[in-house]
Amino acid sequence: MSLEEELKQLSDIVFLPQHDLTSFTTFRLFSRGDLIEIKSVSALQKILPLLKKYQKPYLVVGWGANQILPAECKQIILHLSLPFDGSLLNEKQEEYTLPASLGLNHLTAHAVKFALKGWEVFTGIPASLGGAIYMNAGTNLGEIGNLIKKVTLVTPEGNIREEVIRSGSFSYRHNHFVKAGEVIVGATMIHHGVDESIPQRIREYLEYRKRSQPLATKNCGCVFKNPLKELPAGRLIDSLGLKGLRSGNLRISEKHANFIENTGEANWDQFSALISTIKHQMDHFYGIEFELEVKIPYH
Ligand SMILES: Cc1cc2nc3c(=O)[nH]c(=O)nc-3n(C[C@H](O)[C@H](O)[C@H](O)COP(=O)(O)OP(=O)(O)OC[C@H]3O[C@@H](n4cnc5c(N)ncnc54)[C@H](O)[C@@H]3O)c2cc1C
Repeated sequence: MSLEEELKQLSDIVFLPQHDLTSFTTFRLFSRGDLIEIKSVSALQKILPLLKKYQKPYLVVGWGANQILPAECKQIILHLSLPFDGSLLNEKQEEYTLPASLGLNHLTAHAVKFALKGWEVFTGIPASLGGAIYMNAGTNLGEIGNLIKKVTLVTPEGNIREEVIRSGSFSYRHNHFVKAGEVIVGATMIHHGVDESIPQRIREYLEYRKRSQPLATKNCGCVFKNPLKELPAGRLIDSLGLKGLRSGNLRISEKHANFIENTGEANWDQFSALISTIKHQMDHFYGIEFELEVKIPYH
């Protein structure tokens, strides 16, 4: 039997070979490749050993807000769409057991409703919970890692693994516990009680983000890591007068120089050319080696 035939026998999955993946990232660079939509943890437990058996590399994509996909994607894209009983968010809980595919926007709405202290740290970050945990997403208010008590993962062998979070489990935009091939399927989240100022803080922070980031455009968030906390990549790019620089349908944002906007149907080559220009100029004028924050699979 082939992988395709074995996949067809599984329930709770949709296998879409050579699918248009463009809308699976917020940047919307044209991409095509094999896609598996997964609707239950038990289905994922069957899929990962199959992919291992057929030696098929794979990549999990959440909201694709920190992910670039090449024109021809060689890995199989796994996209989780796990069940969630939304009534859990009708009331304040002491802790929350949540699926990885849940959008952080639902959690922010809940934090506004119940004034949950701590949950303001992920205000406005476009992400699935799984992607946010993987990246230890955060703002200058804090990081999501501090709110995670336990993470549930599926191993490449199809087993469930529980990771209890401790100090050292996360660092800046990084986790230290997801092993190669593992997929985050859920997490237990806590909060730090109730603080009546939280709803207002969240609203103000959302306004601040709207003013300072090109949120209405197709982009992938910050493209480069800040070389140092006090040396933001955006300010360095701006200081070289690169705001507005174009490469085909891509443009360095006028609002925030560490954002690249897709103004039309941009492609991988245009992206590659633009980041090479930025990296070259950084190296030439400042001697700084810029590192990508956005994730790029091999291609
Ligand atoms: C407009 C805009 C603003 C942004 N602002 C911020 C910000 O303020 N702070 C910030 O931290 N980030 C920001 N980002 C980047 C992005 O939102 C975060 O990195 C977020 O955590 C990505 O989540 P995602 O679900 O989109 O993950 P994806 O982009 O889909 O994936 C990111 C990485 O996580 C892995 N991954 C995803 N889900 C899983 C899973 N279930 N199991 C295992 N691995 C997984 C992927 O393989 C990939 O390596 C911004 C992005 C945009 C477009």
